Amino acid sequence: MALGPIVQAVRGATIVAPRRTRWGDALRVHDGLFARWDQSECNNGGVVLNRDGMFVLPGFIDLHVHFDEPGRTDWEGVEKGSLKSVLGGVTTVVDMPIDSDPPTIAARDVTEKCEIFLAKSFSNFAVLAGAVPGRLAEMREAALAGAAGFKGFLCDSGWDDFPRLDGESLQEALVNASRIGLRLALHAEDQSQFVSDQIGDLGRPVSSEVSAVSTILTLAGEFGAKVHLVHLSTPEAVRMVNNSPLATSETCPHYFSSDEVLVRFGLDGVVVSPPVRSASLRNELRELVQNGWLDAVGSDHSPGPPNSDSFSGQWRGAQGAGKTMLALLDEFDSPELVADYTASAASVYGFATSGEISVGGQADFVVAERSDNGLWRIVDVVVGGRLVVNDSTVIGRPVVRNAISRTF
Ligand SMILES: [Zn+2]
Repeated sequence: MALGPIVQAVRGATIVAPRRTRWGDALRVHDGLFARWDQSECNNGGVVLNRDGMFVLPGFIDLHVHFDEPGRTDWEGVEKGSLKSVLGGVTTVVDMPIDSDPPTIAARDVTEKCEIFLAKSFSNFAVLAGAVPGRLAEMREAALAGAAGFKGFLCDSGWDDFPRLDGESLQEALVNASRIGLRLALHAEDQSQFVSDQIGDLGRPVSSEVSAVSTILTLAGEFGAKVHLVHLSTPEAVRMVNNSPLATSETCPHYFSSDEVLVRFGLDGVVVSPPVRSASLRNELRELVQNGWLDAVGSDHSPGPPNSDSFSGQWRGAQGAGKTMLALLDEFDSPELVADYTASAASVYGFATSGEISVGGQADFVVAERSDNGLWRIVDVVVGGRLVVNDSTVIGRPVVRNAISRTF
């Protein structure tokens, strides 16, 4: 597939930008960046999108996907996964270090994964490196190779090559992350409180998440380490994280969306870890999401082996790529809320983009339409100034980049 055409301007749409900017009669794009109307008088020959009555939002940032490459492209792979993502308005994904083979731990694993994304991905990307016992000395080199941060587990990950952190190894991982200056993302469930893996919410109770988050926040404070609590499922854990200046939080649509939205996106009844909680806790969490208590909403998109299904518990993981932005829009009907979450997600790992529509920022954006029945549709997606999705169809490739641009 050829590169998508360059976009010059979007006319007629409401621009959802957090700060007051004088955009004039159109949102302009110049050299892949957002430009003010009076700064880009030159005609660069790009496409002009006339989008009366629609909304321009910043491209969505999905902080949590598992694309399973290298090593398990028969499960999905970067190309297929990122196609789903970009069709749903996602212009940057953060890929987790597990489920690929090898897992992403060593510097060479980070380099290999970045090269795969640069060659195949339809969205910009960032890569986390694993923080696992026995291999914590590799964290520094992984960071130098371009990792955006690290990821570890407080409970079994399900993979022998990705053991969980406990006791001393958790402390060591936090000290390393603090010294390196990158954030450590953690799967927060206290395994000692598990009752069973077969009975959902009761088997991996609320208290196991709360206990793990409490441990993490205490140690993060002690060592001055920045942490990110992935896929939080309980309101209590979200409130605890909200009180810590070192910690950022994330949840996923399946933990808070209304039944109607879950059914629409095929996420009702999904078997995941941590499990989906009771209706009352989901309602409480929905209110927190609506009121901006979290830093990010991610998909935790996690396809399993071919022909496995994630509803019987045969494989634990949601097929969520490309669903999060629309689920948020349908649930809350607020493009401003979605734009706020995009901006806060961009700062979790310190991306080069602000995640906002602002002059001089990377032109990653979405044109979305609210239909008469109140449901939303992603119409166009622009990545780095190139039109990748047009009228809800992929028409070309972007030139993608690692969302982390650091110079050492
Ligand atoms: Zn995950």
